[in-house]
Amino acid sequence: MNYQAEKELALKIVKQAAKLCQRVQQTDGGKAVKKADTSPVTVADFGAQAILCQGLMEAFPNDPVIGEEDATLLQKSGLEGVRQQIIKQVQQSIPTATPENVIDWINWGNGQVAQRYWTLDPIDGTKGFIRGDQYAVALALVEAGEVKLGVLACPAFPREDGSKGLIFLAIRGQGAIEMPLEGGTPEVMKVDPSSKFEQLYRIESVESVHSDRRVQTAIDRRLGLTYTAKQMDSLAKYGAIAKGEAHFYTRVPLPQFEGKKENIWDHAAGVIIVEEAGGMVTDLEGKPLDFSLGTKLSNNHGVLATNGVIHSQLLAAIQQEKSSF
Ligand code: AMP
Ligand code: MG
Repeated sequence: MNYQAEKELALKIVKQAAKLCQRVQQTDGGKAVKKADTSPVTVADFGAQAILCQGLMEAFPNDPVIGEEDATLLQKSGLEGVRQQIIKQVQQSIPTATPENVIDWINWGNGQVAQRYWTLDPIDGTKGFIRGDQYAVALALVEAGEVKLGVLACPAFPREDGSKGLIFLAIRGQGAIEMPLEGGTPEVMKVDPSSKFEQLYRIESVESVHSDRRVQTAIDRRLGLTYTAKQMDSLAKYGAIAKGEAHFYTRVPLPQFEGKKENIWDHAAGVIIVEEAGGMVTDLEGKPLDFSLGTKLSNNHGVLATNGVIHSQLLAAIQQEKSSF
């Protein structure tokens, strides 16, 4: 399998979805409503999911799609205006879309994990999107529990020439590439294989409750890190490691969220991008992330992504830190 048809479709719809997000950000600044778990969601999250699902449904009607959003929330009274905005935004991208189409497309993302499936996060890092910081449109193809293709559109990712917006793409066995969001020459991505901890950068979430900073600081001290961690919302962190702009990323559940498992769509596309750029991704115990079990990484504990070279040293430091608590 060389996944050429999947790659072309994935790139096309991720770019279209990213465009919708940028348009929403420019027009209404990413006003948010709250989901049942109190996390924010915007017109752009729903609109981007509709676009991604429509493309997948048309091109690969037999593949289940598991997306973060669900249109049930939009049935709530008081949200008619939000629903109208979503429909309007999707119609700007797909002029023939009816209101019923838009809701059906969003709900196409309610599929079940199968031998082969797609998972997507229309906006990972919604809090970053609302703040005007980093966010990512994420799409991945999984077969037999392993990610085979991953695409991330990061409209706010800084480029060397001072402009913004990158797409990261990886296919199993074919390497990882980056290209400007608006199109241009793809460049091969490679991790930075440095291993001297005093010269390495850790990267972490902006949101302090998404990983245990106390444990992370203790690990940094144990390894002799000298630089302050870089901070970035969303799956864009995996892109930063794959590009060599950071060297590792740990996601350590806080004690109050100990039983909480990570969502498949929050990691799938990033995992393959780091791996195909020469890095490594496991959980905090060194186990590969298992994408075959449902919407959660229910058989894994936390996440560790590195440039590969330092992976075993980090796993050892994490185990030592765990035993010292
Ligand atoms: P990040 O920008 O890396 O912090 O990741 C954003 C993602 O974190 C969101 O898509 C959420 O699904 C996820 N998230 C929300 N709450 C938590 C939590 N308590 N622990 C870990 N991840 C979380
Ligand atoms: Mg997310």
